[in-house]
Amino acid sequence: EDDSFVSTPAPVDKLLGGLLAPGFDEESCLSRYQSALYRKASPHLPSRYLLARLRKYEAQHKKCGPGTDPYKKAIEQFKSNHSMGPMECNYVVWTPYNGLGNRMLTIASTFLYALLNNRILLIHAPSDLDDLFCEPFSKTSWVLPSDFPIIDRLSSFDIHTPQSYANMLAKKVIDKHSNGSLPAYVYLHLTHDYSELDKLFFCEDDQLFLKKFPWLVLKSDNYFIPALFLVPEYEEELRRLFPSRETVSHHLGRYLFHPTNAVWGMITRYYEAYLAKAEEKMGIQIRIFPFAHISSENLLAQILNCSRNENLLPEISVEGSSTTKAVRSKSVLVASLYTGYADKIRDMYYEHAATTGEIISVFQPSHEEKQHTEKQAHNQKALAEIYLLSFSDVLVTSSWSTFGYMAQGLGGVKPYILAFPEDGKAPNPPCRRAMSMEPCFHSPPTYDCKARKNVDKGALGRHVRHCEDVSRGLKLF
Ligand code: GDP
Repeated sequence: EDDSFVSTPAPVDKLLGGLLAPGFDEESCLSRYQSALYRKASPHLPSRYLLARLRKYEAQHKKCGPGTDPYKKAIEQFKSNHSMGPMECNYVVWTPYNGLGNRMLTIASTFLYALLNNRILLIHAPSDLDDLFCEPFSKTSWVLPSDFPIIDRLSSFDIHTPQSYANMLAKKVIDKHSNGSLPAYVYLHLTHDYSELDKLFFCEDDQLFLKKFPWLVLKSDNYFIPALFLVPEYEEELRRLFPSRETVSHHLGRYLFHPTNAVWGMITRYYEAYLAKAEEKMGIQIRIFPFAHISSENLLAQILNCSRNENLLPEISVEGSSTTKAVRSKSVLVASLYTGYADKIRDMYYEHAATTGEIISVFQPSHEEKQHTEKQAHNQKALAEIYLLSFSDVLVTSSWSTFGYMAQGLGGVKPYILAFPEDGKAPNPPCRRAMSMEPCFHSPPTYDCKARKNVDKGALGRHVRHCEDVSRGLKLF
């Protein structure tokens, strides 16, 4: 018998094109090597240079991580209240702010910043972040130790904190041009309300100056990577790391974020129960912001119009014709804090046949009603849903939502973005295909450090454009 036509399935690439290092204990974090089984192989290969830099970073993190001699030395230096220039190991401490999508995007941004600066990323992980993510780096930890000198103050850091870069510049506690003594650390305040002086962070001179500090503390609710591409010092390195700019969050997300076994259990149980058998998977992410009011009727109509215009969901047959044989099955995963949307879409395809004969099943894993970022179990569900959405072949997402950004980045999918409501109604067209799967940097700096004036960086056309959903924002493409 000639079996040459029987194709053997390609072996699953558990290490994602070399993005993941081998050698972790598989049982302690099943998602790390299993997620490849649940996704189509990514068409985007990481660059060899990125792989080399990640392996170098991992070695460096192991050498400098909590408990090591260089870490102890750096802590001693911190406690002396002075910085004496860069040390053997230098650090950037990430602090949480806002919801999980925001947190994941800023961890990814801070990690890339650490990579560019040969710093070690340590994350301040209060209990609401417990049992969400596995350690991404082998034989060490990325968690900031609980005896870190200022750990109790980190959550209160804000624009008024005297140790912020802006406030220390304004009060002349630090001077870029003198060789005077330096404080133990700089707080980088990069949240949406940041001042013009805080934004100097994105200037090359300031970047060079900040290298003198062994300790930086960073807080942000922005995916600030697009602006790093505009810092001349980093441009060439970033080009080598990411020859394809639109894959930054895709690769960094898959590299860094591995759900713990508790969350992976939720993800895989749900997947097996509701999604595994569908021939096509669609995800709809519904996020409603107080500053973007729209009634649930209007929003449902917007979602359905978008799906119809873009051929994402089939029309229904008004005669109520009965299909005898299903031609295809399609699952629709709805992620939202609210009930109602999934039920109405499900009812529609229960009461009427799809004109294409497709069988449409609609599911929503949870409806938490309110954001509760302070609750760990709530965050576990949020992570599970970001992951489940990322398994979709097609994604519809909400404007402005970092939750959706994270799902599209992990999935490597260019979403259809539901347009921001105008006067409580959906504008026309109801949605638009994103130009890239990259997240949007919502509040980028506009200051041109060389020209010393404000400019429209999105119009310069180098590496970044304005976002589809946030006109002042910037995204890589
Ligand atoms: P953003 O505010 O949309 O940019 O996204 P964030 O993730 O930063 O914050 C929203 C938070 O609200 C999430 O982290 C969740 O805690 C919660 N949330 C919003 N939408 C959903 C959803 O569809 N499912 C679940 N489980 N939680 C959600």
